[in-house]
Amino acid sequence: MADTRDRATDQMKLWKESRGSEKREALTTGAGIPVCDKLNVLTAGPRGPLLVQDVVFTDEMAHFDRERIPERVVHAKGAGAFGYFEITHDITRYSKAKVFEYIGKRTPIAVRFSTVAGESGSSDTVRDPRGFAVKMYTEEGNWDLTGNNTPIFFIRDAMLFPSFIHSQKRNPQTHMKDPDMVWDFWGLRPESLHQVSFLFSDRGIPDGHRHMNGYGSHAFKLVNTRGEAVYCKFHYKTDQGIRNLTVEEANHLAATVPDYGIHDLYEAIATGNFPSWSFYIQVMTFEEAEKFAFNPFDMTKVWPHGDYPLIPVGKLVLNRNPVNYFAEVEQMAFDPSNMPPGIEPSPDKMLQGRLFAYPDTHRHRLGANYLQIPVNCPYKARVANYQRDGPMCMFDNQGGAPNYFPNSFTAPDSQPHLREHKFRVSADVARYNDNDLDNVMQVRDFYTKVLSEEQRRRLCENIAGHLKDAQLFIQKRAVKNFSDVHPEYGSRIQALLDKYNAEDRKKRSVKTYTQHSSYVTAKDKSNL
Ligand code: NDP
Repeated sequence: MADTRDRATDQMKLWKESRGSEKREALTTGAGIPVCDKLNVLTAGPRGPLLVQDVVFTDEMAHFDRERIPERVVHAKGAGAFGYFEITHDITRYSKAKVFEYIGKRTPIAVRFSTVAGESGSSDTVRDPRGFAVKMYTEEGNWDLTGNNTPIFFIRDAMLFPSFIHSQKRNPQTHMKDPDMVWDFWGLRPESLHQVSFLFSDRGIPDGHRHMNGYGSHAFKLVNTRGEAVYCKFHYKTDQGIRNLTVEEANHLAATVPDYGIHDLYEAIATGNFPSWSFYIQVMTFEEAEKFAFNPFDMTKVWPHGDYPLIPVGKLVLNRNPVNYFAEVEQMAFDPSNMPPGIEPSPDKMLQGRLFAYPDTHRHRLGANYLQIPVNCPYKARVANYQRDGPMCMFDNQGGAPNYFPNSFTAPDSQPHLREHKFRVSADVARYNDNDLDNVMQVRDFYTKVLSEEQRRRLCENIAGHLKDAQLFIQKRAVKNFSDVHPEYGSRIQALLDKYNAEDRKKRSVKTYTQHSSYVTAKDKSNL
């Protein structure tokens, strides 16, 4: 038994060994007051009742009652690790961000991998996009890349974000996952076709977190020291190689090792098998963006590699497991609006929506001072601003420094060389409906050129196996959308659905007959 236990399973034993002959600490309350007995409550007589003055009990119980913080609305189930980002290629012609300053520069990072729709206790091996968020602790403050394992997303307009997530989570009455909701939304929003096709392809169930790529997904802007800007996309490709689970393997693991992804990552790092990813950018000039065949800020589309090749930048390496899961992973908070000078947002409507949504959710989940929590704290930079007070203020609250600006007691703060890139926007303010933009061109390329025949077959089977549980009119609408991508894509899914629906009809007719005959029997009996 002992020989088969790995380091993740042996964490308690290894922790004890790491302390050597260190003496056990004395028990205390949360206030550090020594405690004599942590096994028996204080009672009047051996049969009770319990006394209110048992502050050892009430201190423990009251804290226990408050152990949970709100679960993340999305990306609740996750694994985290720490390491560094090392620059291997010079891209200072594009960006003045200090993180890219020179070849060989290392910046500490924190990474969180996650599934999206499941709750904190759900299985790691479900078919779901994976979050792949990277926090870089730079000397110019934290840079958070809130990426995913896909370069695209289901929607392109942030207005749809809450509804999209609702449709993928639980039915408001039954509290069950609901295929009608899932496919109704996807069918009504054909811009989701690209991401849905990725999701139901083999890469929809990665083998743990180490064998998948990551993508910043949105378009961003890079600005150099001369104030010149380009648009860019971030890609981080696994050095471990892509590996996916079959549906059967994933289902088996979901039942037997639901924390498969957490375990795999922890064990790899604990045994010195440090995972890494090669980091690239794609770059598009403003002139190219103007003339581009489609909106380059549309998050449902990629920038083709042929036109915008990957430019190598560096390596992400993970070499430290969290010391404590809650402190360092559950409380880890990523915010795409955290960008150091030299990295800025593009007009991507989804990115702009996330610039608000992410910090807003952290203030709700972790509190207004969430950036003071050690794992979120920009410890390589110095925080100097006029924000003060609030719940759980953990440091010196900036001491006696003035809390207003302008003031006559500290040097003027403005740093003109850090001014944001200036750009012109001239357009009519309106709510633009872009549902009728091209939604199929890149999905067709994906289906016909990227996937092999075997992968296409599995893709159609995976889709049909899920879509079969939606109502017929929802199935029809989805099939029409897949047929718009490619007639064969739609017809293959329809053929599989026809089989499922025929089986379903057969089952229902047998059931109806059985119900009918038992009804007749019961009625007959009652007539006797
Ligand atoms: P390329 O032919 O240059 O490259 C194809 C890309 O597809 C590679 O990045 C490859 O990733 C990725 N890929 C291969 N199999 C799968 C899969 N089952 N699921 C998801 N991605 C996969 O692509 P183009 O740039 O010319 O674009 C063609 C199509 O490829 C796009 O329409 C898009 O659907 C898809 N794609 C494009 C990406 C991009 O950023 N341009 C990124 C990912 C997919 P890898 O090299 O890691 O194997």
